[in-house]
Amino acid sequence: MIPPQFEYYRASSIDDAIKALSEDPNAKALAGGQSLIPLLKLRALSPSKLIDIGRIRELRYIRQAGRGLTIGALTTHADLERWAGPCGVLPEAARQIGDPQIRSMGTIGGSLAHADPAADWPAVVLALGAMIKIAGPSGPREVPAEEFFQGPYTTALQQGELITEVLVPECPPKSSYVKIARAYNDFAIAGVAAAVWAEGGYINEIRLAATGVGLKPVRLKKAEEAARGRKAGEDVLLEVAEAASKEVDAISDVRASAEYRRAMAGVAARRALRRALGL
Ligand SMILES: Cc1cc2nc3c(=O)[nH]c(=O)nc-3n(C[C@H](O)[C@H](O)[C@H](O)COP(=O)(O)OP(=O)(O)OC[C@H]3O[C@@H](n4cnc5c(N)ncnc54)[C@H](O)[C@@H]3O)c2cc1C
Repeated sequence: MIPPQFEYYRASSIDDAIKALSEDPNAKALAGGQSLIPLLKLRALSPSKLIDIGRIRELRYIRQAGRGLTIGALTTHADLERWAGPCGVLPEAARQIGDPQIRSMGTIGGSLAHADPAADWPAVVLALGAMIKIAGPSGPREVPAEEFFQGPYTTALQQGELITEVLVPECPPKSSYVKIARAYNDFAIAGVAAAVWAEGGYINEIRLAATGVGLKPVRLKKAEEAARGRKAGEDVLLEVAEAASKEVDAISDVRASAEYRRAMAGVAARRALRRALGL
């Protein structure tokens, strides 16, 4: 399909992009275009103007910051797939997104802003306890990942605002992302990210988060409770799976029934924790 007509503007800096977005309430930012362009072609959206932020080089980086990381919004899925530093869940999740073409164009900022309820990065940033850094007409602000996702395709972003960075305060020593989908690299029926701090076989701290199951990505707090402070073993994995299945608010759609999704949330949680712990 041919997209509706729109004006095109290539922003030269973050400030330039914010100014252009603020001037026109029907303008939209264009990053990698891997979600926005298909929506335009389907005529599901008809923005008056696309503000291309894709050439703002200062937004593309992965940097170690203390025990954590900062990731520029324009960092592509492929950049993260190649990342060999701490937070091993990043390359593990990146390589499960779409295909090589999608990964070389699509960006982490675009994925988080788009907030597809079955996208992979939202579960990962929730499990990492990340902060989403935002710039806008009223200045910069930070939103915890847990408050950022508000519903399907709905986030805390306001008119004229851009995601600039994902801040991971502390990379977990053990982490994993497991995605259950109908076919290799399809969107998740259930995806679970695990971030684990363990010592001497004991799970001291854990964050688990699921995507693809309900209307928005969620922390699996009951499943976390089932594991926290326990000695890692098969019994804990089973209890985590059971708690995860019970606590998710699953939906039915063309990909899967709610019942199947609930079961797969448990399976994905168990596998993610097993993989993170190396059991
Ligand atoms: C065939 C196919 C398969 C896919 N498979 C998967 C998959 O398995 N898993 C998965 O998670 N995703 C998948 N995707 C989506 C893909 O990951 C996209 O790259 C991603 O959702 C959007 O990133 P983008 O940079 O392309 O954003 P764009 O398409 O350019 O923008 C998407 C939206 O975000 C806004 N936006 C972009 N950047 C910013 C920013 N910095 N600040 C504020 N708003 C911004 C845009 O205005 C737009 O509304 C798939 C897409 C396709 C077409």
